[in-house]
Amino acid sequence: MIYVTQPSLPNLEEYTKLLEQIWESKHIANIGTFHKQFEKKLKKYLKIENISLFTNGTLALIVALQALRITGEVITTPYSFVATTHALHWNGIKPVFCDINKHDFNINPNNIESLITPKTTAIMPVHVYGNPCDNKKIQKIADIYGLKVIYDAAHAFAVEKKNKSILNWGDLSILSFHATKTFNTVEGGAIVTKNIKLKKRIDYLKNFGFVDETTIIGHGINAKMNELIAAYGLLQIKNINNEIKKRKQKVKLYRTLLNNVKGITIYKDLKKTKHNYSYFPILIDKNSFGKTRDEVYEVLKKNNIFVRRYFHPLISQFSTYSGLASAKKTNLLVATKLAEQILCLPLYSDLENVTIEFIVNLIKK
Ligand SMILES: *Cc1c(COP(=O)(O)O)cnc(C)c1O
Repeated sequence: MIYVTQPSLPNLEEYTKLLEQIWESKHIANIGTFHKQFEKKLKKYLKIENISLFTNGTLALIVALQALRITGEVITTPYSFVATTHALHWNGIKPVFCDINKHDFNINPNNIESLITPKTTAIMPVHVYGNPCDNKKIQKIADIYGLKVIYDAAHAFAVEKKNKSILNWGDLSILSFHATKTFNTVEGGAIVTKNIKLKKRIDYLKNFGFVDETTIIGHGINAKMNELIAAYGLLQIKNINNEIKKRKQKVKLYRTLLNNVKGITIYKDLKKTKHNYSYFPILIDKNSFGKTRDEVYEVLKKNNIFVRRYFHPLISQFSTYSGLASAKKTNLLVATKLAEQILCLPLYSDLENVTIEFIVNLIKK
């Protein structure tokens, strides 16, 4: 059976050695040495100034919104994993859905301004499949209207534009280290910000709001990463460049084999962008391909290839959000169309070339 992704794990012997240190010290939680080392290594690797580690990406999103005191309405994309919008709801914020671009699957900055109301306090875009958003246009709108910008960068670990990390954009970015992501710590997440004061506030909030034993500075939560996971993450950094390199080779093979197949759209690397090859999305146009996306999905499934339709349904189509005015299809024409055509093919570093050939042949047949 072939799934859309398969996690890479650290070397078990090396991990056992680190676990022995933890067993020795008995320091298993509450920001120990591995937590500190992992933050330090990530800062260097990702070319960023500050990072706060979390138990998962969703809690990082929820705390990010708390840390910036976001209220009212936030303009976001319906073309994402549902956690993006759920994090707004958990903060009592009304999501306002904005349509996306066809070329990169990201929020279309030209549609943002018309959605701004007196209640709007922030824009929350997603770098979908690790494709960098149009940060310049988004930031320009944010600066004019005094809005914060929170990037859901769950797909964008190690992504760079013009040799600089895109995690430095906006007021902050959140990462997810879930097992299904390019870089995993089993489960995990982080907030990245250039603002050291904000980083401090985030660190208090992820630890119940404790500043010291007797002082609380806010309604904090418990979202800290533990030592067993931090040690695991520390080892994963050693592998990540090799991981991305192998993924790139798989993508290259897919692109070669799927080139010029009528009715199938594949995507090239974006200009001046260092990708992490987190997903391999294709679009299937039923009119020119002759079969619908769902027919292709079913054929692959019958052959034990379990691909995913990320992101179908759109978040705006779930019953929890479909009643919102901005969830109307007429407001989300591009997103609606892409959600009907999208298919993410299996992609991970240990995926065999013969399997890729098998998958592509099934699609072509
Ligand atoms: C995975 C993901 C999240 C949630 O991260 P978890 O670590 O699973 O909580 C949030 N947003 C996007 C876009 C994701 O893909």
